[in-house]
Amino acid sequence: MALVSHEIDVAVVGAGLSGLAAARALAATGTSVTVLEARDRVGGRTLSQRVGDDIVDLGGQWIGPTQDEVAGLADELGVRTFPQHTRGKKLLMRGGQVVRYGGFLPRVPVLDRAELVVRLAQLERWARQVPLDAPGQARRAEAWDGQTVAQWMASVRREGARDLVAIATQMVFAAEPRDLSFLFFLRYLHGGGGLLRLTEVRGGAQERRFVEGAQALSLRMAAGLGPSVHTGVPVAAIEQDGRGVTVRTARGVVRARYAILAVPPALAAKIDLGAARTVARHRVEQGMPMGSVIKCIAVYPRAFWRDHGLSGEAVSTGDPVRATFDDSSHDGTQGALVAFVVGDAARAWSRRAPQERRAAVLADLVRLFGPAAGHPTAYVDHDWLAEPYSGGCYTGIMGPGLLAAHAEALRAPAGRVLFAGTESAGAWAGYFDGAISAGRRAAAEALERLRG
Ligand SMILES: Cc1cc2nc3c(=O)[nH]c(=O)nc-3n(C[C@H](O)[C@H](O)[C@H](O)COP(=O)(O)OP(=O)(O)OC[C@H]3O[C@@H](n4cnc5c(N)ncnc54)[C@H](O)[C@@H]3O)c2cc1C
Repeated sequence: MALVSHEIDVAVVGAGLSGLAAARALAATGTSVTVLEARDRVGGRTLSQRVGDDIVDLGGQWIGPTQDEVAGLADELGVRTFPQHTRGKKLLMRGGQVVRYGGFLPRVPVLDRAELVVRLAQLERWARQVPLDAPGQARRAEAWDGQTVAQWMASVRREGARDLVAIATQMVFAAEPRDLSFLFFLRYLHGGGGLLRLTEVRGGAQERRFVEGAQALSLRMAAGLGPSVHTGVPVAAIEQDGRGVTVRTARGVVRARYAILAVPPALAAKIDLGAARTVARHRVEQGMPMGSVIKCIAVYPRAFWRDHGLSGEAVSTGDPVRATFDDSSHDGTQGALVAFVVGDAARAWSRRAPQERRAAVLADLVRLFGPAAGHPTAYVDHDWLAEPYSGGCYTGIMGPGLLAAHAEALRAPAGRVLFAGTESAGAWAGYFDGAISAGRRAAAEALERLRG
């Protein structure tokens, strides 16, 4: 069906959490809005699917304390949450050896642990020195943006401490320490309340899950917006003139006064904005590739690891699995483990034969949780690198030399085109919460212009 040319107020590109939150905020004020989504579904980097008797998340999944935007939205929409299972010991697999531990920090030799504690405190202190909205104004911004996380890690003397910082970085960013500007890393840490909060379950970013899966947030927002949401409509170009924008898609053209681009910078780069794209914006889009993650879920008749005093949470230096969590249903009737393959490992395993990947992931789960882990009743995985409208995940990442100079380009309007998407957020950039706040901020910018 061809799209008709409307004369509407705002065209929103992208029906992820950010675009839908923007559209919902605009619609609530009586502003006319159309959402154009390339995929044949809404939700973007959230994707919930029934596996066995439960709905599992193949994309984003958890929320935690201080994420008030997403928690508030879930309440408004009646999407229920439940606590991530934590009872039992965690596991660390390092150099082929598996050890159990309790508390925050994995069990490594005492001197390694001592250095880790000092280094984590240093990271938390430095992260707080990076202003979220103007990271280039941090006193040491230039020096920090001139190096990678790997270069900073070279100053960490104890191998155990270095290994654990590497695992935390890989898990939080789905990227390698060498891929990340140290300034970008510190700003991201600041936005989420520090590395411990980002990696923890209790009191951290992995504290709660959604009973119906995280995609329910987008499905409910889209249902509320009704026929103004169009799926299967990739936007190719946005032209501007004195009165508005012309949004070009393969299915026709939409005329609006303003556009909100709620897609990650690496995907925005593929949309022709003509002369409106500034040099700084161009550099940011070219220099912010997506992280690399394959998310894998193995389902079992029951959560057998709980019987052995284990929580299901594990971290590993092995290949391919970097970390696991208990992913059982909220009522505990279906057992499941979720395993993350990230960074270099995700790039190596992306697009490999599904049965090969399954065998390698299950072999790691057996090393961690014993032979029963080798016999799931169902197994699914999702390779986000193979998704053309994500191009990787969880989020856009930056190497050295960009953020100090060009942070404002993540959200500075290009004429009548305003920018949303989690990458343009301050607090909780990269997360659901940042996506929603960025969508609402872009909606407020559009309203201000429409009323002005
Ligand atoms: C495996 C995985 C685990 C994650 N874990 C968590 C977690 O536990 N907690 C958390 O908070 N976050 C997590 N995240 C990150 C979180 O999912 C994202 O931050 C958030 O969903 C981003 O929302 P968004 O709307 O900014 O972007 P997106 O969801 O990417 O939405 C952008 C939309 O734009 C569309 N689009 C792209 N190009 C075009 C075009 N040319 N025309 C039209 N439409 C286009 C895309 O199809 C997409 O639907 C995870 C992500 C993944 C993949």
